[in-house]
Amino acid sequence: MINERMRDLGRRRSAIRDIFEYGLLRKRELGEEAVYDFSLGNPSVPPPEAVNRELLRIIEELPSVTLHGYTSAAGDLSVREAVAGYLSKTHGMEVFANELYMTVGAAAALTCALNALVQRGEEVILLSPYFPEYRVFAEGAGASVVEVECRKNDFHPDTSAIKKAINEKTAAIIVNSPNNPTGAVYTEAELSELSEILLDAQKEYGHPIYLIADEPYRELVFGGARVPFIPRLYHNTVVCYSFSKSLSIPGERIGFALVPKNVTNRTDVYNAIAGAGRSLGYVCAPSLLQRLLPAVLGMTSELSVYDENRRLLFSALSKMGFSVVPPEGAFYMFLRSPIENAAEFCLAARKYELLLVPSDSFGVSGYVRISYCVDTEMIKRSLPAFGALAKEFGLNGD
Ligand code: PLP
Repeated sequence: MINERMRDLGRRRSAIRDIFEYGLLRKRELGEEAVYDFSLGNPSVPPPEAVNRELLRIIEELPSVTLHGYTSAAGDLSVREAVAGYLSKTHGMEVFANELYMTVGAAAALTCALNALVQRGEEVILLSPYFPEYRVFAEGAGASVVEVECRKNDFHPDTSAIKKAINEKTAAIIVNSPNNPTGAVYTEAELSELSEILLDAQKEYGHPIYLIADEPYRELVFGGARVPFIPRLYHNTVVCYSFSKSLSIPGERIGFALVPKNVTNRTDVYNAIAGAGRSLGYVCAPSLLQRLLPAVLGMTSELSVYDENRRLLFSALSKMGFSVVPPEGAFYMFLRSPIENAAEFCLAARKYELLLVPSDSFGVSGYVRISYCVDTEMIKRSLPAFGALAKEFGLNGD
C-alpha cells in the first residue's frame, strides 16, 4: 500500500517551491526583468574561482576509479582529517576525524541526527519561526514537534518559554543561527543561558537532551555579529554543517555532522548517526565534492553582496512604513504583514510581480519572508513595486 504520509509530502509541494515555480512561469510571460522573485534561498553569487579550478584539477589528476568510487560511509579519511584540522584551528576546540560524518548537505546531517537521537514518541523542540523542513525531518524520524515561539521584537530565543516547554519526553532542540527565516544571530549569552537550562533539565529528567546546531549560514553574518561555536557552550551538541551557502554550491550536496568528544556516550551517538545514514540509504557523501574540500576550507563566495542587499532593502522597506527586524545574518528578512493573513498579503504582492513567502509554513502567522540572495539590480527595480504595495495597505512612509 502507498505510504500516505509520503504521498502527501510529494503531492503538497512546499509553499516556497510553489511560489518559485509560479515565478518561473511569470518570467516566461513577462520577461526575467519584470518579475521580482524573493522566494528561494538559492545563493546569487558564484562560488570562489578555486572551486571550479580545484574540481577540474581533481578530475584530471585523480585516478577515475578512485574518484568515482564509493568512499568510506563516514567520508574519505584524509578529507575528514582536513576538515577536523580546519575546525580545530577555527573554533579553538580540538576536533578529530572520527567525530565527523560527511553528508549530502545539512539536510542529510539533520535527518541522520534526528533519526539517531530521537525515538518514536519523544519530542523535538523547534524555535518558531523555523525552516519548514525541520517538521518534515523530525516527524519522519517519529518525533512529535513542540514549537516554542521566539521573542517577537528581535526573533531571538525566548529562554523562559523554552524552559517551560521541556519535559521528560524532550529528546532534542534544533538551534539555527544565523537563522532562516528571520536573519537572527544568537548571542553567546543567550546560548549559554540555553545551555544552563538544558543542563538543569538533563539532571532533572535523567537523560541527555541534545542540541542540534544547524549551521548552513555560519559564515553569513553582518555588522560584526559573531557566531559562537555551540559545542564549547553545551556538551551535548551535534553540529550539522553545509557548504551549500558559504561556497554557493547547494546543488552539489556536501556537508557534515560533527559529534564532538564531549557529547555523552559519544561513540554510541556517532554510531547511531552512521546507522541512520545507512538506514536512510545515503551510502556516502558525493566523492568528488568531498575531495574538493581540503583545498577550499575557509574560503567563501563574495558575501559582501548580501550585506549590500540587506542594507538597501531594509532601509527602503523601513522608509516605506513596513515593519522589519534588522537581520544580522543569513540572507533573509522577516517582514510584518500589514494584515494578519500573510497569504492574502502575498497574493496582493503578486499583482506587483513581487514574490514573497507567507510565514505560515515557518510556524508563525502574520509575516512574510524575503530572500535577498538576489541580484542587487533586481532589488533596485523592485522598490517602486514595494512602494505601491505599501500604499495599497495604507502604510505611512517618509
Ligand atoms: N537548514 C536551513 C536552515 C536551511 O535554510 C537549509 C537550506 O536552505 C538547510 C538546512 C539545508 O541545506 P543543505 O543544502 O545543506 O541541505
